[in-house]
Amino acid sequence: MSTITASPVTMAKLLSRHEVAEGTTAFRFEKPSNWTFKSGQYLDMTLLDPLETDAEGNVRSFSIASTPHEDTLMVATRMRDTAFKRVLDTMPLSSAVKIEGPSGSLTLHNNVKRTAVFLAGGIGITPFRSLVFRAAKEKLPHRIFLFYSNRRPEDAPFLDELQALERENPNYKLIASMTEMSKSQRLWQGEAGLIDKETLARHLKDAVSPVYYVAGPPEMVKGLKTMISEAGVDDDDIRAEEFAGY
Ligand SMILES: Cc1cc2nc3c(=O)[nH]c(=O)nc-3n(C[C@H](O)[C@H](O)[C@H](O)COP(=O)(O)OP(=O)(O)OC[C@H]3O[C@@H](n4cnc5c(N)ncnc54)[C@H](O)[C@@H]3O)c2cc1C
Repeated sequence: MSTITASPVTMAKLLSRHEVAEGTTAFRFEKPSNWTFKSGQYLDMTLLDPLETDAEGNVRSFSIASTPHEDTLMVATRMRDTAFKRVLDTMPLSSAVKIEGPSGSLTLHNNVKRTAVFLAGGIGITPFRSLVFRAAKEKLPHRIFLFYSNRRPEDAPFLDELQALERENPNYKLIASMTEMSKSQRLWQGEAGLIDKETLARHLKDAVSPVYYVAGPPEMVKGLKTMISEAGVDDDDIRAEEFAGY
């Protein structure tokens, strides 16, 4: 017999904020004791007694961008002008939020022989940051390809550390692609344009029985899922998470 259990609820105190891309902030919280999660999972965050609120309410889902090894819990978000995000951006350090979860199944497959292909659109990088840093920390043998699409490098959260991680984990490759370099102030020598079948095929020539993971704004996730399905990938080998609200 199976039983359905409610997600654990706990409190976490805000420790710090820092910008990780233009208009994008990472928030670090005290990691609640006796609360565990797997890389790739998300939590539901509720603001407690916020100074303002709006029709969308006081709860948002956020993928956990930190790894289980890190001392603190990190989430990252585009700082749009909504009541929830204004409060998150201005509440005093040490303020507590309610956390429910973890939830979600964007966790790494067990079969180490199968290649992991991560497709991230913009802020959809958050679960993959946790997954690739965990893989490096635990020296997991999985081959991992992270395709990461943004308009400009300025918009790409965690880009520098994701690039640097290639030196730590020879099984991991980052393929970052920019779609609007004409609006950028930075030099870019990586891929340009949308991630398409040709880009995937070029990099995944010797991938073994790949499992695909997709995360980001719903339109982007739908587009990428359609593309890989049309390329002949079985639905069972595609795991996706749509960041509803973008
Ligand atoms: C599993 C999961 C993981 C996520 N991880 C992240 C993350 O790591 N970082 C991040 O920035 N965001 C993440 N999101 C999205 C996040 O929860 C917010 O919806 C998003 O940040 C927009 O919040 P907002 O306050 O800017 O806009 P909002 O005020 O929430 O709303 C913007 C618009 O989206 C619509 N909307 C809001 N929620 C939903 C919904 N559930 N379904 C359909 N439409 C909706 C609203 O009606 C409104 O029109 C995740 C969402 C999910 C489901």
